[in-house]
Amino acid sequence: MTTPPVDGPFREALIDLGAVRHNVSTLRARVATPHFLAVVKANAYGHGMIPVARAALAGGATHLGVADVAEGLALRSAGISTPILAWLHDPNEDFVAAVSAGITVCVSSVAQLDAVARAGERAGLKPDTPPTVHIKIDTGLSRNGAADATWAELFARAAGQEAERRVAVEGIFSHLSNASIEDDLTQATRFESGVALARKAGLNPTLRHLAASNAALTLPQLSFDMVRVGIAMYGISPDDSVAPHDYGLRPVMTLRGRVAAVREVPAGTGVSYDLTYRTSSASRLALVPIGYGEGVPRAASDRGPVSIRGNRYTVAGRVAMDQFVVDCGEAEVEVGDEVVLFGDPARGHPSVADWAAATNTIGYEVVTRLGGRLTRTFVDA
Ligand SMILES: *Cc1c(COP(=O)(O)O)cnc(C)c1O
Repeated sequence: MTTPPVDGPFREALIDLGAVRHNVSTLRARVATPHFLAVVKANAYGHGMIPVARAALAGGATHLGVADVAEGLALRSAGISTPILAWLHDPNEDFVAAVSAGITVCVSSVAQLDAVARAGERAGLKPDTPPTVHIKIDTGLSRNGAADATWAELFARAAGQEAERRVAVEGIFSHLSNASIEDDLTQATRFESGVALARKAGLNPTLRHLAASNAALTLPQLSFDMVRVGIAMYGISPDDSVAPHDYGLRPVMTLRGRVAAVREVPAGTGVSYDLTYRTSSASRLALVPIGYGEGVPRAASDRGPVSIRGNRYTVAGRVAMDQFVVDCGEAEVEVGDEVVLFGDPARGHPSVADWAAATNTIGYEVVTRLGGRLTRTFVDA
């Protein structure tokens, strides 16, 4: 038995900030909108919000997007002074902290608009710098955003608040379903009529934005003044029809660990809980110290692809809370060897898309759910 290599992470998500920068500048050049919003919600899709936000700005992002105010405040606490949009709010959110920190609150209702105006007053904002808001309208996703029946009332109210210098309506936006090109184009038409209605009400939103990654890549005519790009910035495809590599995008995350134990077993040996897997011949079994405690889906049992020493294997048996097993057959494998769950296919690793396919989900979920005991290591190659 040789001595195991001494260095290498036990388990980690390796985050390539150079790839974030590269992806943002590649996407910026492609969509060529005057503004580019990098979406860093949910801990930057599991990649680590603060370092990713900084890398996105270095790559040319002009705005950052988060779901809730607390995420925006965390960016501000880290010293990031770029415009930040937050668009999903606690019904009790008072917005005082948000407007004091200069976060652009995206409002979907008159109640939210009024709450932001009140917050501006309570925060002591001067009339020449009232809270900046964007109005979010629903154009067919039936999720967040003002329903079209409420547009006229919301726009009139916003124009009134703006005339009193209680808010400044800088933008208007909506979000696409990506159900089909036709559905997205229908939403775009509704969006344009919403913008026209807002203008008729006396508003002049200079930042119109509709496209997220999918439309930014595939429907450039929907880019308006800004795109809001999340998943593509991480080098991951928004859907099966789009290969990130074809757009010059590079994967940002490598999920890896080290083989914690190796054992040699005869043919017919059952592996892991419920013994769903049995070796078909005498085999070396490698133990990988990553499990659903780190967010690796249990659905990857007997399905998830991994790479060890350049060889491709499949998870053998159940993924447990802390660990899973790989059947390396007769191939060489030693304690301390690197195991890559996903990374850069150009380097022979399985991709996030491979994991999404193996576990019947989407790339977004594969990376965003990661956490637990996983260490994030940031490199800037
Ligand atoms: C999450 C989100 C995005 C980013 O979507 P991607 O498909 O990851 O690019 C854009 N806009 C809104 C409103 C979102 O909630």
